[in-house]
Amino acid sequence: MSSSATRIADPQDPPAPDELEVSVFGAGVGECVVVHVGGGEWIVVDSCVDTTTRRPVALDYLELLGVDVATAVKEVVVTHWHDDHLRGVAELFQAASSAGMVCSGALRSEEFHLLLGAARTSSMSRCLDEFGSMLEILRKRTFGRSASMGPTWAHCNQCLYRSNHASVHALSPSHGTTTLAFRELAAIRPGRASTPKRRLVAQDPNEVSVALWVEFGGLRVLLGADLEAGRDARTGWQAVVSSRERPQSRARVIKVPHHGSSNADDPGVWSDLLEVNPFAVVTPYAAGAKPLPTKEDCERLGRRTSRLFCTAPVRGHKPKELSASVRKMVRLLAPDLHDIEGPMGQVRLRGRAGGADLDAELFGRAFALAAA
Ligand SMILES: [Zn+2]
Repeated sequence: MSSSATRIADPQDPPAPDELEVSVFGAGVGECVVVHVGGGEWIVVDSCVDTTTRRPVALDYLELLGVDVATAVKEVVVTHWHDDHLRGVAELFQAASSAGMVCSGALRSEEFHLLLGAARTSSMSRCLDEFGSMLEILRKRTFGRSASMGPTWAHCNQCLYRSNHASVHALSPSHGTTTLAFRELAAIRPGRASTPKRRLVAQDPNEVSVALWVEFGGLRVLLGADLEAGRDARTGWQAVVSSRERPQSRARVIKVPHHGSSNADDPGVWSDLLEVNPFAVVTPYAAGAKPLPTKEDCERLGRRTSRLFCTAPVRGHKPKELSASVRKMVRLLAPDLHDIEGPMGQVRLRGRAGGADLDAELFGRAFALAAA
């Protein structure tokens, strides 16, 4: 199916000052969302690297539009500490020198240790390396004088940005999720660098994701991060849907949570938080044994909206299988090599509050998924 709203456009045209833009980028692995919140101001949510330029895709794109990244990017939001959502985010944050840093207020033990200044180790994952680099950039911006300098720790129903044109609120993490995070921290034994005793409490990064709600006049956007359905009514999407404090209006656009997976899909999101037949954008996750979204995921989403887009082919780019010895050598020589990612795709939605419906523009390998 090709959407009637889809048109060919010049990717270099910047949005008008009174125009909302939501651009979702993704290759086989990786996700980044760039939002023009009006008046030439931008918010970047998560980061991935274009394998062609080896730079954060948000930097490439905003420079292509002629945007002064140093002054125009107001917030860099890291929804959660998973590799496919944050590659290059420290480089982006360094360039966005007047932006705030936002991350989840439901702090897990790994991030907690880094915040305390625990030494980085060679075994530290890329995720925490990016987190540590962002903390250092923040410290340098205050010349290291303030121990209180740090990110905005997002929690549900917190306003993260406001201007004459737009506002951005966090919908998660919920208070229940934050309570679980506190319990995880409390379970850390003194003198032990990591592993909390009670693994039942420890949460996956997806569970503490920051989902966002953007209001732009009468246009609203739900950015679902990788937030999962929830352990119970006080966590995940269950907590968002049942919240009385969240904005009670409906969004026309959703960045589908967690690559369209069924464990991140709460029917209440579609019935209570979204307009009928919303624009829905999915990024694929082609790594691992089960690429996302699955055929069943695509069919389920296709029954919910006919305006469903994906940033890259769903099954992803399948590299030729390498032998174990060659893989080991490649890892030693080029640890950054990410052989699953293919070329970048972009789904760009633009529109004015009170104007005609949004325009959907597709670049690179992005495509419209067929309705069921
Ligand atoms: Zn994730």
